[in-house]
Amino acid sequence: ACQNSGVWAWDCETKEKILIIPSVLAMLGDNPMQSEFACHIGLRGRMFCRVCKVQGNAEEEEADNARKPPNGTGSNESLSAPDASSLASDVSTGASARQPKKKKGKVAESMADMIVRITNFMKIGALRSGDETQALLRSQFVNACRIGGYAQYKRTRTQFGVKDTHQEALLQRLFDVSKKHGVTKAQKEAQMETVHKGLLDILTSPVWRIKDFDPHADTPVEILHVILLGFVKYFWRDAIARLKDDQKETLITRISSASISGLGISSLSGSTLVKYSGSLTGRDFRAIAQIAPFVLHGLLDKDILECWVALARLVPLVWQPQINKVDDHIADIEKAIDYLLDCVCRVTPRWFNKPKFHIVLHLPAHIRRFGPAMLFATEGFESFNAIIRSASVHSNRHAPSRDIAHIMARGNRVRHLLSGGFFLMNRLPKPCSTRTAHTSSQHKGCSVAPSLSAWMSSSHNQDLRWEKIGQAPINLISIGNFGAQLLGLGQADVASLPPGLCISCGERQEWGKTKSGERGPAIQGIPPLSSTSVVYTPRQVRLYDGDLCTAGDWIVWLSFPQGATTPTTQVGQVLEIIQVAGSQKQLTGRCDFLVVVTATILEDMHDYYRMPRIAVSSKSIVVTVDADAVKCVANVQHNCADHPCKVVASSVVYQEREKTDQRALAMTHTSPGDLILNTGQMRNSSLLRPLKVDPEPLDRQPIIMHSVKLEMDRRKKKRDAQAAMAVAQLTETSQVVKSKHATASTSLRQHVLST
Ligand SMILES: [Zn+2]
Ligand SMILES: [Zn+2]
Repeated sequence: ACQNSGVWAWDCETKEKILIIPSVLAMLGDNPMQSEFACHIGLRGRMFCRVCKVQGNAEEEEADNARKPPNGTGSNESLSAPDASSLASDVSTGASARQPKKKKGKVAESMADMIVRITNFMKIGALRSGDETQALLRSQFVNACRIGGYAQYKRTRTQFGVKDTHQEALLQRLFDVSKKHGVTKAQKEAQMETVHKGLLDILTSPVWRIKDFDPHADTPVEILHVILLGFVKYFWRDAIARLKDDQKETLITRISSASISGLGISSLSGSTLVKYSGSLTGRDFRAIAQIAPFVLHGLLDKDILECWVALARLVPLVWQPQINKVDDHIADIEKAIDYLLDCVCRVTPRWFNKPKFHIVLHLPAHIRRFGPAMLFATEGFESFNAIIRSASVHSNRHAPSRDIAHIMARGNRVRHLLSGGFFLMNRLPKPCSTRTAHTSSQHKGCSVAPSLSAWMSSSHNQDLRWEKIGQAPINLISIGNFGAQLLGLGQADVASLPPGLCISCGERQEWGKTKSGERGPAIQGIPPLSSTSVVYTPRQVRLYDGDLCTAGDWIVWLSFPQGATTPTTQVGQVLEIIQVAGSQKQLTGRCDFLVVVTATILEDMHDYYRMPRIAVSSKSIVVTVDADAVKCVANVQHNCADHPCKVVASSVVYQEREKTDQRALAMTHTSPGDLILNTGQMRNSSLLRPLKVDPEPLDRQPIIMHSVKLEMDRRKKKRDAQAAMAVAQLTETSQVVKSKHATASTSLRQHVLST
C-alpha cells in the first residue's frame, strides 16, 4: 500500500511536507537468514552459494531441522554476546576445518575431481536467476502433489539447492498425507485433493512479490559474519590451537604491548584474546585482524602467516567508508580476495569446506551495487539484540514478533517526540487553554510548521494540526544526561569541532626548555622564537576528522616540496604540540604547530609484512606541521620480525592495590628506529593507499595442484592408518578369543582329570 500511495511526513530540515515511498533495495542478515530469503537450501547444501551455482562436497543436507526456527532473539553470532555460531560446521575448534563425514558407499574423491572442485570454488559460478528459481519451486510443488512425490521433491531440492521455507511449511500437509501408512492409494488421492483445495492460491515465499527485487543478487555479502566472525575467527582459533603454552605467553605479551594508536580501539588485553579465543566478539576480531601480522610472526608456519598478511590487506579495503574511484576500488578488492584465497589454498584446501571462503567472492559485485560494504553490514543492528531479547522476555509470548515490533515502534515514537519531532494532533485544542496559546505563539514566532497541512485539508480533515511536545517534557531529557544516554540524543558532533583545538591547555614552559626548543633552529619552518618565549605544550589536539592526536603518535600529512605541484604523503612522529603564549591561535584554544620527526619511507616493502618500511634516526629531519594539514593518525609497529626483540619482566603487578612479587611482561625492542607502517589499519585506510605497494598476484594453478596433492597424501595416510588400526583391533580381539578359548579348554581338561 505504501508503494502505491506513499506516506506523508514532515521534513524538519527543509521545513516542508514530504512524501515517502519505501522500496526494498536489499535484505540484510547473517548467511542462514539470507539463504532463507533467497529460497536457498543453506550453507550446508551441496550447492552452498545463494548467488551462484558453484558445487562443493559439503555435507549432504541434513534433516529438515538444519536451522532452528527463528525464535525472535536474533542471530546467535553477536557483537556483545559470546558467539555460539548457528552453523554446526563452525563449531569445529580443532586444528582445521572438519572433514565432511563420508557416507557408506560414497566413492572417495579422486585427485582430478578435487582439483576441479577447488578451482571452481575459488571463482564465481553461473549466477542464479529469480525466474529459474521460481520455475524450480513450481516443479517442486507439482512433485509434492503426486503421491510418492516426496522422494523426487527431496532430490530436486538437494540437486539445485533450492528450498522455499514458506512453501515447504504448506507442502508439509501434502507430504503428511502421501507418507501415511496403511491407507489405500484411492483414499490418499481423495485426502490429497481436499488438502490441495485447502491451500492458499500463492504458496511461494513473499520475497517473489516484492517489486524489482532479486533475492539472489539483493542479499549482499555481510562482512561481519563472513569476515570478522568468519575468516578471522577461523584463523585465530586455528592459530591458538597450534601454539604451545610458552608460545602463548609470548603472544599475550606481544598483544598487550602492541601499539594501538590510530586504530580507534581501546587497549588490548592479550590474555583475554588468547585464553578465551573460543568466545570472542566481533569487536575483538576487528582488533585482531589489524595487528595479527605483528604479534604472530615466528610463532606459526610461513604459509599461515601469509594468510594473516593477506587478510590485513583485504580488511582495510572492505571497511573503507568512502569510495572515490569505484572501478579502481573494486579491482583492488578483487585482487586482495584472490590473493587471500591463494594463500589459504596453499595452507590446505580443507579450508574450502567452509562456504564463507567462496561467498566473499561475491562481495565486489555487491559493493558495486550497494556502495561501501559498511552500509550493508549488520554490525549496527547486532547491538539491538539486547533490546529485542528484553522485548521478547517481557511479553506473554503469544505473538513474540508482533510484541517486538510494537516495542520497537514505541521506542522510536518516544525518541521522535523527545527530540522535538512534529506529529499530527487530531483534535483542535480549546482556544482558552494556556498551553495552546503557548505552543501556537511558538509556531508564529519561529514559523517552523504550518498549523494546518494543505494535504490534510484537501482530504476534508480540518481538525488536524502539526504539534510538538511542550517545554516540560523537553526539560526531562537534560536531567541526568538522560537523553544522551538512553536515546543517543544531543551527542556533540566531534567532526564539527575546528581542527587544531587543544583538549587541555598543557604545561607552561619556556621555549628553550621544551624538547623541541632544545633542537632550536634545526627545526624546519620554525617561527622566530627566543629561548625565553613562553609556550604551552598541550598533550592532545583534535584533527579535522575528529580524531585526537597525542604527542608521540604517528601522523600522515601532505607536504608540497619546493617547485612540486603534486603533494607528497609524509609520515612522522609527533614530538610535541606547541601553543605560543599570546598568539592568535592560543587565544582561540588552538595549537600553533606540531613539531614532528619525519620518518624516511623506504623504497621496498617488507618481505614478510608486505607493508612499507619506515625509519627514524637521530639524523631525521624535524619539521613543524600545521594541525589543519594532518590527514590522520597512523598505526606504526616495530619491525620485530627482523630483530631479536625480547620479552622482559618490567612493571610491578598490583593485586587488590597491594604490590606483588609478580612482574608484568613487556616487549623490549632492539633497534627501535626500524619500523613498519601498518597499512592493515581499518581507519583512514584510503589515506594510506598512496603508500601501499601491492604484492605480485600468485600463480593459482600450481598452488592448487601442490596443495591438492598434499591433501590426497594426507587422506591416503589417514586411510592407511585407519586400516592398520582396524587390523590391529581385529588381531587383538582374536587373541583375546584365543586366550579365552585356551583357559576354557584347560579348565575343561582339569575337570575331566579330576573326575
Ligand atoms: Zn557463489
Ligand atoms: Zn620489536
